[in-house]
Amino acid sequence: MSLRLYNTMSRQVEEFRPLNPPKVGLYACGPTVYDYTHIGHLRKYVMDDVLVRVLKYLGYQVTFVRNITDVGHLVSDGDEGEDKLEKGSRKYKLSAWDLAKKFEDYFNYSMRQMNTLPPDVSCRATEHIPEQLEMVETLEKKGYTYTILDDGVYFDTSKLPDYGKLARLKLDKLKVGARVTKLKGKKNPTDFALWKFEKKGQKRQMVWESPWAKRSFPGWHIECSAMSAKYLGEQFDIHTGGVDHIAVHHTNEIAQAEAAFEKKPFVKYWVHHNFLQIEGKKMSKSLGNIYTIDDILKKGYHSMALRLLFLTAHYRSELDFYFKNLAGMQKALKKLVESIARWKIEDLPAVSSRLVGMQAGGRLKIEDRRWKLEEKKMSKLAKEYRKRFWEKMLDDLNTPEAVAVMWQVAKDEALSGKEKLALLIDFDQVLGLRLFKLTPDELELQSQVDINSLPPKVKELLKKRQQARKEKNWQEADRLRDKLKEFGYLVEDTAEGEKVKKTSAVILPSKA
Ligand SMILES: [Zn+2]
Repeated sequence: MSLRLYNTMSRQVEEFRPLNPPKVGLYACGPTVYDYTHIGHLRKYVMDDVLVRVLKYLGYQVTFVRNITDVGHLVSDGDEGEDKLEKGSRKYKLSAWDLAKKFEDYFNYSMRQMNTLPPDVSCRATEHIPEQLEMVETLEKKGYTYTILDDGVYFDTSKLPDYGKLARLKLDKLKVGARVTKLKGKKNPTDFALWKFEKKGQKRQMVWESPWAKRSFPGWHIECSAMSAKYLGEQFDIHTGGVDHIAVHHTNEIAQAEAAFEKKPFVKYWVHHNFLQIEGKKMSKSLGNIYTIDDILKKGYHSMALRLLFLTAHYRSELDFYFKNLAGMQKALKKLVESIARWKIEDLPAVSSRLVGMQAGGRLKIEDRRWKLEEKKMSKLAKEYRKRFWEKMLDDLNTPEAVAVMWQVAKDEALSGKEKLALLIDFDQVLGLRLFKLTPDELELQSQVDINSLPPKVKELLKKRQQARKEKNWQEADRLRDKLKEFGYLVEDTAEGEKVKKTSAVILPSKA
């Protein structure tokens, strides 16, 4: 089994051959920690996670490095505008350092919610200032830089004949304004800042002394070249990032690294993730459609339903996010988790009702190991499914088709329960859906509803139940609670009174 990956550099799906097998070095551009991580970011990091899991499954010794950008990422790609950290500091009324800490924590929390494997190295730009300075000095010694007075040290892109090869930039046709604004003093429109100086009159919170200025700070691109070299070497296997990084950020990372180390290629495989849009529209503050993981959880959805939704789109395609699709994913996932519990029981005929009772509560504490099957013990059909799943997964991480194979396995009555369990254990190592840890209860789709907007029949039942409770007729109150459940409503009696939630099991009569 070998992996095939689309390489942005060649614009082709290529067979993956690491530089020093079985070792694999992977660098992922991480978050700029100036605001909350949203689901657009989550999609990218979940797809990184699938790639890391696939590499590990194949037996590679992966070193997975992901950076935290906590300085130097300017609002504009053209080396102008404010540092995002300094701007965020004002918005949230926190010091730039506290802001970075707050949103790095939120990022890590979001990653745990999505069940992504932690990187082997998580590195902050502010903790690698000497490495970045050293790299800029190397570039200066080799003659790739020039200084713009009171502004910064710049990379002269005309010194590299193959500059822009990743994005296939047509440099002669590149007009100022199309990709970059021409900053005063820049020799070429594509030149970019390696190191920036504090502007006169500006009082930045994050500054360091450098050979060029007393108060200065790194440009955004240098951190990724310096830190990837430190942890993975001057050349490594895979670099990932969003498609928006191809034209500027990754193009400049390549320029810095290949000029400083004089080794080509800097990276062997460039993997780029596509965007997520929300219900047909771009995510934006003005539309109010930027959702964090907490927004998703508060609406009653489960993070694994969101992960499953991400997996249903190929990482190179745009994903259009709809809440109704998320609800659909959650229902399907719940059904699958219920089936898993049933297949476990079927495989344990000697187990008594005690276990069945535990299963009803959603927890069956038997180690997954019990259902692992060796390939040679599998039926021909099970082997066929396993082969099909991995063919899809290894074909440039075709997760939508791999997930489709998972549903086929769940449905196919020719497979035994035990075989289904064995296959799902195998698949979930890379899907990362925690199939054997989830319970049907936690996947119950619930969202609180306004009592006034309920159908009349449901309102009537609620009223009757209130009356029964008043009369301390608990039996009748419980019966009515069950009746409401049939209609798809859960009633909770809380300190603030009655709360009604809608569940995914809607059995509303057509004329309520
Ligand atoms: Zn980067």
